[in-house]
Amino acid sequence: MTDTSPTTIPTHDSTKKLQGKVAIITGGASGIGEATAHLFADHGARAVVVADIQDDKGRRLAEAIGSNRCSYVHCDVTDENQVQATVDWTVKTYGQLDIMFSNAGIVSSSDQMILDLDFSQFDHLFAINVRGMTTCVKHAGRAMVERRVRGSIICTASVVGSRGANRRTDYTMSKHAVVGLVRAASRQLGEHGIRVNSVSPYAVATPLMQEAHRKEAEEIEKVFEALTPLKGIVLRVNHVADAVLFLASDESAFVSGHDLVVDGGFVS
Ligand code: NAD
Repeated sequence: MTDTSPTTIPTHDSTKKLQGKVAIITGGASGIGEATAHLFADHGARAVVVADIQDDKGRRLAEAIGSNRCSYVHCDVTDENQVQATVDWTVKTYGQLDIMFSNAGIVSSSDQMILDLDFSQFDHLFAINVRGMTTCVKHAGRAMVERRVRGSIICTASVVGSRGANRRTDYTMSKHAVVGLVRAASRQLGEHGIRVNSVSPYAVATPLMQEAHRKEAEEIEKVFEALTPLKGIVLRVNHVADAVLFLASDESAFVSGHDLVVDGGFVS
């Protein structure tokens, strides 16, 4: 019979959940990725590689966190060679890859209603939100399998990955695809001990949201606060980063193929 006495339950150091781990964060120069880079470093990650196309912001972030623990790499996720090079560089420089937070994403500049869908914007969005997201899972997965690392891969989906939306057809479709990617990859990589999950935030007033709504952060927060069942709290990047940290760490050791919504009950 299995011994389930409390003394056999492993404990975790709750202050350093990623001690010694090596992580890549795509879209790490801003918003949710930026907050997660800080949190990963605070939790003892040996190296956080911020991969983005905003070079100045990315470099400033790496400096702020400290060059001994954080590096910036220019990586456009639409280019598979750049994604592969980023993974290869990380493994060569730090010896392994434990965590891939595939997070880079965009919204189209117009509302993308189905009757007026602009397919050049649609294709560009899919190249980042779906193809780019998938490329990161592919190359992180390969590096983990090759080195027999029981890694954790996390993708950023969205609450619109599991429900409809009144506009942004392409974005909604792309986030449904991310949930499908996570489900498929988690089944295939499970035999290697690699976990694949997604985090699905409700609205956070990042540059992406400000651009999409053409509104200041405070205005966005006011609008979306009114729409979510959970009151007395506004969703901020640190709440999403906390969920990503959980999925990245051993605290979620048996969680795979899961979409963790961070939405104050909005989707239910
Ligand atoms: P953000 O604009 O602050 O950050 C997105 C980052 O992705 C930027 O640094 C940007 O430079 C980078 N990026 C864009 N194209 C890229 C490319 N081709 N290659 C590499 N990097 C690229 O926005 P955010 O809100 O932090 O977005 C992060 C993720 O969260 C996205 O996938 C987004 O869809 C998702 N999301 C955001 C919200 C929200 O309300 N903010 C809600 C649900 C999901």
